[in-house]
Amino acid sequence: MLRRELAGLDRTRVWHPYAPMPGTIEPLLVESASGARLRVSAPGGGTRDLVDGMSSWWAAIHGYRHPVLDAAARDQLGRMSHVMFGGLTHEPAVTLCDRLATITPPGLEHVFLCDSGSVSVEVGIKMCLQYWRSSGRPAKHKLLTWRGGYHGDTFWAMSVCDPDGGMHKIWDGVLPRQVFADTPPAGFAAGVDTPYAERLRALIGANSDELAAVIVEPVVQGAGGMRFHDPGYLRLLRSVCSEHDVLLIFDEIATGFGRSGALFATDHAGVSPDVMCLGKALTGGYLSLAATLCTPEVAAGISRGELPVLAHGPTFMGNPLACALANASLDLLLGGGPEPAYPAGWQAEVHRIEAGLAAGLAPASDLPGVADVRVLGAIGVVQLRHEVDVAAATAAAVAAGVWLRPFRDLIYTMPPYVTGDADLALICEAVLAAAQVG
Ligand SMILES: *Cc1c(COP(=O)(O)O)cnc(C)c1O
Repeated sequence: MLRRELAGLDRTRVWHPYAPMPGTIEPLLVESASGARLRVSAPGGGTRDLVDGMSSWWAAIHGYRHPVLDAAARDQLGRMSHVMFGGLTHEPAVTLCDRLATITPPGLEHVFLCDSGSVSVEVGIKMCLQYWRSSGRPAKHKLLTWRGGYHGDTFWAMSVCDPDGGMHKIWDGVLPRQVFADTPPAGFAAGVDTPYAERLRALIGANSDELAAVIVEPVVQGAGGMRFHDPGYLRLLRSVCSEHDVLLIFDEIATGFGRSGALFATDHAGVSPDVMCLGKALTGGYLSLAATLCTPEVAAGISRGELPVLAHGPTFMGNPLACALANASLDLLLGGGPEPAYPAGWQAEVHRIEAGLAAGLAPASDLPGVADVRVLGAIGVVQLRHEVDVAAATAAAVAAGVWLRPFRDLIYTMPPYVTGDADLALICEAVLAAAQVG
């Protein structure tokens, strides 16, 4: 099909994320991707390569067409790409669940596999609601979160997204009403603000009879605003939740697998939640897969109920192809396989990227219209004082040879861990260019 025909059909037939139908902004056409680069079709014919600053929504941590991941996919295709998970099991899923339970914080022993991040959040919420029902306390059915969060696009996940950014107004009367604390004070190393901590403690205490769980993104609030907070708030949540009989869910879908500089963001705090959600980078960005982990206490609580099972079971649960890719991605990340991708360890690469982003984005602070510049791990954020003109900002980045996808007032990058120093410098230049026009 000609590029022009594809663009026409894309506009009228294909719904894109957060987009109207028919589409108003023509997306770039990607022909292939390799390493840290996307090959897109060029306006005048032919193709051009763009350095990828997004890791395909933070998932492709090892870049594209990684030979080890490609080989793992081919190998698993030679056995089976899928079988149902009810009554059947297979080595890729068993190995993956065992590894996830081993590498996540202590206490998370059981793993429920599902197809996407939003579904893993639904499953985590269901675990908590069912735990309290099974324990004879059905009144504990609400969730508490802090503002500025994002947990997915399905309805209960939406109910704990930031009420303004999550557009709760248009869903008035539909979304369950949850309890919201203020956005946690900003700054990874800002210390814990005592008045905020006291308000949070009081809010949990006052609502504990109705609260099934507190759900938050640890350390990094991602799609809700790319904000960082002090890990001390996680220790606070852990102790207050335990004190008041409220379960604690950490949504590590964005932060898991090294993005914030720790393997899991909760490792910065040294605490374990009762339930943890993983997704995005789980398969190294190859296939959709997510996981919800829980403690034996949560599992036992569910199992003593009138309905002693977790009533959830997606058709593609435990997809072998996705599990095989997740195992191969963990081999690359943790150095367990024959070809470690990061001879000095993934931390060294994330710290290298952190230093590169800090240096490369620093000049943005002097630009008019820039409100804040912040970096944590392999996450670099330039926050403007106004909404980004997404089309203009994206065009400026593409002109600089980089793929970026800004949102709201944020121009940010989460590059693959394999991004080299020259590409990283190019990404920073593109962010600066986008911040000037966006
Ligand atoms: C992306 C994201 C989700 C939703 O995951 P999907 O796979 O898009 O459904 C949930 N929580 C967080 C923190 C995320 O970043």
